[in-house]
Amino acid sequence: MRDFTYAIARTLDQAIATDPSRAMLIAGGTELLNWFRLGVAAPDHVVDLAGIEDLKRITIEGEVLTIGALSTLAEVGDHPAVRTHAPVLAQACLAAASPQIRNRATLGGNVLQKTRCAYFRAEEPLPWGCNKRHAGSGCAALNGINDRHAIFDWTEQCVAVHPSDPAVALASLDAEIEIAGASGRRVVPAARFHLSQHEAAELGLDPAQAETRLEPHEVITGYRVPLRGGARSAYVKVRERASYEYALVSAAAVIELENGLIARAALALGSVAQRPWRLAEAEARIVGLPPTRDAVLPILKRCFGDARPLADNGYKIAMAAGAAARAIVEAAS
Ligand code: SF4
Repeated sequence: MRDFTYAIARTLDQAIATDPSRAMLIAGGTELLNWFRLGVAAPDHVVDLAGIEDLKRITIEGEVLTIGALSTLAEVGDHPAVRTHAPVLAQACLAAASPQIRNRATLGGNVLQKTRCAYFRAEEPLPWGCNKRHAGSGCAALNGINDRHAIFDWTEQCVAVHPSDPAVALASLDAEIEIAGASGRRVVPAARFHLSQHEAAELGLDPAQAETRLEPHEVITGYRVPLRGGARSAYVKVRERASYEYALVSAAAVIELENGLIARAALALGSVAQRPWRLAEAEARIVGLPPTRDAVLPILKRCFGDARPLADNGYKIAMAAGAAARAIVEAAS
């Protein structure tokens, strides 16, 4: 790990003024310090956001639940307002990582974590190609071990998935991400914040390296979750062990019922693409059905027509459809 200098920002303006060409912002540090150790990043200077008290709030303002970016996953997951109005987000936060990490990791940082692809998460010098680490070096996972990789919207440049649990919940909730930067403030829908491989290419960006719509001088300041009376939600994470493990697949469901039938649905999958993956076709086709596994699973299974599994991850199609069905049933109950 290379030496770096360290400072604490007390205001958002101080954070935004940081020169992104030589400095990096740090919040909980649970991800960034891994990047330093592996050689993914090696800044000269680190600016800690922990001194910006404004970014630590969780409040309800009118019909919107607002969550500051420096709220930890434990704080979000345990907060009564989140548990009451957005249980899918509380569950996703508490399904992430381990209790120790959830006490440090922030919601702002969590959505900016990088893929868990094992070829990417190795120390320099890498003995294989990885376009996400070194542009143009190839993708070892494409024809290597790819059981945890993407089934949607990948390219031969990279077949990695985004690993955040809360990002999937935020996409299903139609949340917005608040961003501040040198040119002002803006909001981005959470479902559009991460870039799929093809979206990155359409923007003229490297599809393997560009992962979000955040610009270099910008900072995530918070999240806005619209409150919908009558909405019920749940998050289902399928993983190889019950704690401190990333999802094989995950599913978030937000539904509204009328007379016991689904009147509105928002469904998002995790660990199937480089961004949370909304199931728009399934959302429309399950309206009018009872929220039971028998009713929704056949519909969900038919909505994976554009999935392109790799050699080792065809299992994800059935697993993701099952996880989405379970999330719908749990939300309804
Ligand atoms: Fe690197 Fe992406 Fe290929 Fe993994 S899938 S080896 S992160 S280029």
